[in-house]
Amino acid sequence: MASYYVNKNAQDNGDHEVHKEGCAYMPAPQNRQYLGEFSSCGPAVAEAKRFYPQSNGCYYCANECHTG
Ligand SMILES: [Zn+2]
Repeated sequence: MASYYVNKNAQDNGDHEVHKEGCAYMPAPQNRQYLGEFSSCGPAVAEAKRFYPQSNGCYYCANECHTG
């Protein structure tokens, strides 16, 4: 299990990136929303979509959940 966070700030394309704890691209603490502990990025992105419908996995730490 790992802790996942979603970026409160959207990317230029409108995506809110979901990051796994330890990612080099983790947003600053004030810019991220804690999602919970998950065994993979899939349910983490699903949780993020409750806050931000346009959520997407980080290319670097959640590549299997990254689209576009
Ligand atoms: Zn990341």
